[in-house]
Order: sequence, then C-alpha cells, then structure tokens
Amino acid sequence: MITFVGAGPGAEDLITVRGQNKLKEADVVIYAGSLVNPALLKMCREECEIYNSAEMTLEEVMEVMIKGESSGKKVVRLHTGDPCLYGAIKEQMDELDRRKIPFEDCPGVSSFCGAAAALKAEYTLPGISQSVVITRMAGRTPVPEKESIRSFAAHQATMVLFLSTGMLEKLSEELVAGGYQEETPAAIVYKATWPEEKVMHCTVGTLAETAEREKVTKTALIVVGNVLNTEYERSKLYDPAFTTEFRKGKEV
Ligand code: SAH
Repeated sequence: MITFVGAGPGAEDLITVRGQNKLKEADVVIYAGSLVNPALLKMCREECEIYNSAEMTLEEVMEVMIKGESSGKKVVRLHTGDPCLYGAIKEQMDELDRRKIPFEDCPGVSSFCGAAAALKAEYTLPGISQSVVITRMAGRTPVPEKESIRSFAAHQATMVLFLSTGMLEKLSEELVAGGYQEETPAAIVYKATWPEEKVMHCTVGTLAETAEREKVTKTALIVVGNVLNTEYERSKLYDPAFTTEFRKGKEV
C-alpha cells in the first residue's frame, strides 16, 4: 500500500496519530526534505529505506514508490503540512491511477493552522471576516490572472499567503491596489511550530522591511487582515441569548 501522509507544519508531535502509525510501519519513506522536519524520521524502523524527494524528479519518486509497492512493501510519501496545499500530489496520484495502483491519503496539520496557533489568532471573527483566502504570489509557478492578489484583496477577507516571502514589496503593492490599507495589520510567521519559530507583527505597508530586518527569506507565511486587530463582535454561538441545537438561549 502507498500512503500519502501530511507531516504537519514542523513540530515532531504535530503529525496525526494515523500518520505516525504509518511512519512506524513503513518499509519505504519518501519525504519532502526541503520542509519536512527530519526528526519525524526517528519513528521509522531501522530497516526502513528513506529517500529525500528534494533531490529527486517526479519520475524518480514514482519509480521508488511503484517498485516498493509491487514488492509488497508499505510505502509512505511524506509531505509537509497537509498534502492538499501546494503539495504536487495530484501528478503522483494520477500516475498511480493510470497504473491501477491503490493508494490512500492521510491528512496533516497545514502550516496555515500552525501559523494561526503561533499568532494565537482566529482567522474568522464575527463582524470582521468570515472567510480565509489561501493563495500565493506568482513565482516560477504562475497564478491564474483571475486569482490576482488585488482581486482577492478587494474582499477584505483574511488572507494567508504561501510561497511569497521573497516578493513582499510587490505583495504590499498588490494588497493596497486591491483595497487594503497600508495600516491593515499583517504578520510574518517563520517556521511555525518549529523550535526556531518566529512571529513578526507588522502592517501591509511594512511587510518587506520587517522581513528584511528579521532576515526572513523563506519558510514563512504571511497573514493579512483585520482579524489581527483587537476589535470584533462576540460570537453568536456562545451568546447567552442565542438558541442552538444544544442549548436554549435566555434573555439576560
Ligand atoms: N502543504 C504545505 C505547504 C507546502 S508549500 C502546508 O500545508 O503547509 C511550502 C510553503 O508553505 C513555504 O514556502 C511556506 O510559505 C509555507 N510553510 C510550510 N511550512 C511552514 C511553517 N512551518 N511555517 C511557515 N510557513 C510554512
């Protein structure tokens, strides 16, 4: 069996129990070495074959996976965070489908959740924003024109930007062009949940200078939006006057 496993955002104990069991049982592990915490590999059996996909092509990854599976081995493909975001899993899964090789997918804690924890933030605050836009600046991988940063910024929803730390000047410009104020709160979260995690509060207008001052060039998420401010409305869910399926509200 082949299992895609989300390794979580970094901290060794932020993989799921299911993912951990898969790693403990694995005969072959191919891990995304650029971001997966190598400490997770301590869970693997001594005989487990370990490959770092950062040094491999898709073809090489597939070869290791398929060879392992066809000789009855348990193969784990370990991706950072949750594999569903910027994980390049689809091309692997499609190749397995073409060859009629079964596989499963075990979710993980994405780094955007790790960043929220580091910020002690709630991305969806009543009266501020009830949506989260997960996106990135165009880099070597282009972003469709309809998904431009400025078009998303126009919604004033909470935004979490992956893979964009090297382009913060341009990011600020786009956010402002879309309608965010320069003073809108923002944060840079470097290596969320890793021992070396760093949280930098700033504003839309000071993203680039903050990253430069703190020497952050990669492995960071940018969070933008007024949810990082202190003003918001209380939730309806826990309002004494609000009736839910589980609790009858009373006037106070
Ligand atoms: N699938 C992953 C994302 C892979 S793309 C997930 O769910 O988190 C890689 C990008 O994710 C990095 O460039 C960085 O922007 C972000 N990233 C991954 N781990 C991170 C972490 N611990 N802290 C901050 N950003 C992280």
